[in-house]
Amino acid sequence: MHHNTPLISTVVVGLVLAFILGALAQRVRISPLVGYLLAGVLMGPFTPGFVADQNIAHELAEIGIILLMFGVGLHFSLKDLLSVRAIAVPGAVVQISAATLMGVAMGWMMGWSVGKGIMFGLALSTASTVVLLRAMQERRLIETERGRIAVGWLIVEDIAMVLTLVLLPATAGLLNGESSGGGLTALAWPLALTLGKVAAFVVFMLVVGRRVIPWVLHYVAHTGSRELFRLAVFAISLGVAFGAAILFDVSFALGAFFAGMILSESELSQRAANETLPLRDAFAVLFFVSVGMLVDPAIIVNEPLPLLATLFIILFGKSLAAFMIVRLFGHPNSTALTISASLAQIGEFSFILVSLGVSLSLMTERGRDLVLAGAIISIMLNPLFFALLDRILARRQEEAVPSRKPDAPPREPLRHSMQRDHVVLVGHGRVGRVVSVALRASRTPLLVIEDNPGAIKQLVQDGVEVIRGNAAAPDMLQAANVGAARGLLVAIPDAFEGGQIVAKARAISKSLPIIARAHSEEEIAHLKFHGATSVIMGEMEIARAMLALLDVDRVVATTEAGAPSAA
Ligand code: AMP
Repeated sequence: MHHNTPLISTVVVGLVLAFILGALAQRVRISPLVGYLLAGVLMGPFTPGFVADQNIAHELAEIGIILLMFGVGLHFSLKDLLSVRAIAVPGAVVQISAATLMGVAMGWMMGWSVGKGIMFGLALSTASTVVLLRAMQERRLIETERGRIAVGWLIVEDIAMVLTLVLLPATAGLLNGESSGGGLTALAWPLALTLGKVAAFVVFMLVVGRRVIPWVLHYVAHTGSRELFRLAVFAISLGVAFGAAILFDVSFALGAFFAGMILSESELSQRAANETLPLRDAFAVLFFVSVGMLVDPAIIVNEPLPLLATLFIILFGKSLAAFMIVRLFGHPNSTALTISASLAQIGEFSFILVSLGVSLSLMTERGRDLVLAGAIISIMLNPLFFALLDRILARRQEEAVPSRKPDAPPREPLRHSMQRDHVVLVGHGRVGRVVSVALRASRTPLLVIEDNPGAIKQLVQDGVEVIRGNAAAPDMLQAANVGAARGLLVAIPDAFEGGQIVAKARAISKSLPIIARAHSEEEIAHLKFHGATSVIMGEMEIARAMLALLDVDRVVATTEAGAPSAA
């Protein structure tokens, strides 16, 4: 194998294997995550064949975490973060303490010292950012109240782990049972220093970053260069994360989150989010591969009982603690269950903690292997928890529609429209707005499907029937009664999503006129292939309108009449 190009071989083998196994997993209807993790196991040192460079894989995973947290920050404002602090701070603290206590109890049974038990419990206490965000994004939960609480909770866990990592070397002696001379006073200084650095970073970002970062992005946007804009977004996300880690000793994840959050107030944030998407997805896959690489599959046969106990703490112990505290704070069951499902896994922080633990003699290698195996199995099982959650919530909604909570837009039961012979308009942005004004002026019955809360609010005020959410989601078109409509207008800019909507509508009605929006010849072909009756390409219409303004017909006619020589 190419030992002289470890970076290339790790990236290439990682992505190719992840792709193959991910596609296979999808084929047998399990989460592609499982495929990515297995790809990692195959590339890891415990299985025969190619062994990728673990350090490189780990660093690639860090880039994935940075881009992900940056993306979350882009959808998250300071207001959101502060609005959930009342639950997120005590929630995360209680949950970390509960997990640590369970770790101590298990350590006691395994014959470990209390210090080692604490270390083991801490390693089981924090959930993985990547796994949680994946699950939330798939369900479009990030912008719901439950999503905000889960992300806020994660941020608090993140800060707690940064503190733990800093304090561990100072407390190692104490935890190992050696009497450390300084005692508790020796802890006060590193603790104060770390908190001071986190605070300094936050203040720096709020004072300097808040002014400089949006300014840079606006400046670059005005240059009109797409490439430079993309570069600016990556430079800001990676640069701030790295700078935060070097200058303020906070985690990459926290740094990136703040960079994103500061940009979220700018109107360019949506564009910035779109630019980072492809790279973010690729690196998130490498994150899962790198997790898989850490695991020795033999532990399942060698240590089944301790492994089961570890899994019990991760999957049930932590979740139960989270569930109880969320309920205690008066939030509905749906929120409590979502938080529990989100946190029933462990990831990147556990890996960092266990390696530090082993180097400080605060963790045995056996403990480390249990944590790593617990991580991979819990990440594999996590989608099942969410599936279970979906099922429980769906059943509950069927039973008790009146007690619906406003924090679950994607799962709100859809009301079936009674309109007939109406126009269904998907998207109420720059294009849809113009269409809807004209249709309303001509008293044409109209129904709009839209997923932007601002646009929805306006439509409701104007008395237009609206279905909230993504038109490509299941049952949306049925609820809009497209089968009985006089036409469907797909006025959204993304032709790939548009194609899904067109195909679904075509499956409902063979004769429905469907008019869609495109930006290139390829998109026209794509939309037609899926069943669009006509496709309008924005750019072509702009060109026509420009020519019309020039009054080209008149120019041509005058030239022909007045100057016969100009042939
Ligand atoms: P514009 O590009 O300005 O015409 O805006 C497009 C509008 O369509 C925005 O208001 C989006 O919120 C909305 N939109 C985009 N995709 C979807 C979708 N899949 N379902 C519903 N609304 C959408």
